[in-house]
Amino acid sequence: MIIVLKANTTKEEKKRIIDKVHSLGLKTMVSEGVERSIIGVIGEEDKIRLQPLEAFPGVEQVIPVLSPFKLVSREFKPENSNIKIKDVTIGGETIVIMGGPCAIENLETLREIAYNVKKAGATVLRGGAFKPRTSPYSFQGLGVEGLKIMKQVCDEVGLLSISEVIDPRDVELMADYVDIMQVGARNMQNFNLLKEIGKAKRPVLLKRGMMATIKEFLMSAEYILNEGNFNVILCERGIRTFETYTRNTLDINAVPAIKILSHLPIIVDPSHATGKWDLVTPVSKAAIAAGADGLLVEVHVHPEEAVSDGTQSLNTENFEAMVKEVRAVAVAVQRKI
Ligand code: PEP
Ligand code: MN
Repeated sequence: MIIVLKANTTKEEKKRIIDKVHSLGLKTMVSEGVERSIIGVIGEEDKIRLQPLEAFPGVEQVIPVLSPFKLVSREFKPENSNIKIKDVTIGGETIVIMGGPCAIENLETLREIAYNVKKAGATVLRGGAFKPRTSPYSFQGLGVEGLKIMKQVCDEVGLLSISEVIDPRDVELMADYVDIMQVGARNMQNFNLLKEIGKAKRPVLLKRGMMATIKEFLMSAEYILNEGNFNVILCERGIRTFETYTRNTLDINAVPAIKILSHLPIIVDPSHATGKWDLVTPVSKAAIAAGADGLLVEVHVHPEEAVSDGTQSLNTENFEAMVKEVRAVAVAVQRKI
């Protein structure tokens, strides 16, 4: 349930309410809104249902939350969440463009890609160092060596970095090298990983699992928020359907649906959603038109030589052209790049 406070509630009144909830063995999370604060009550709500919380001074309304996710819900936080990382804000008026290779291959290649994506308008460089590959015989990534390359390039070029973490034991290590930790589709329900990232309080991009419903996706985000980390960016990257022409099927519905259900920013990965580079630009435009807050796009200087996902990677010229086309759509929906 959520407890909506009156606009003029004093600090003491708020504390009394929070103390009461804690005395019943339940946890609280406070959302400080522009106009009023909201207290989210987490735990077994049955313990509190019979308590006359409305009688406490400062309480305007007690609302049961019907959805299974609480902290990620719009009821808990009516305003959009903006995730601020250095000079980049995700979830605001500006559309964030993240571009880069599927995997970090070597310093020279990453540097060349980085300069190009920045020139085109990206503010975040993507690149995997720990790759969750379907086959154990495929390239597994450079590991820590890759993270070092990522940090060096981002410092030099002036970009934020995003890279995937696949092991809860690596969360602390990742925090030393990257600005945003990515949880991949295959790990969306790796609950130990989600809890560890929640404790780290670092920005995270959570991808939707390829077989996950929107509800399951938001429940996974709830794990991270429940540990006190509200710096969560959601990412729709396509789900598995009967269609085989494309690698996955972008669930465009998920974008406006999540905007209704949650305050968290949502971006789209058109590369893994389609698996085909020539579908990336049109699908990106659709994503921004539908209300997405950004794009995560695979880019390579030589897609034909990429160690992974070359067929869905844009070359740098096509990436630049894509950003231009997407910018026009952004303007049409009162956003900018
Ligand atoms: C990726 O972005 O590198 C990736 C592996 O994507 P996904 O987890 O969406 O398959
Ligand atoms: Mn990839």
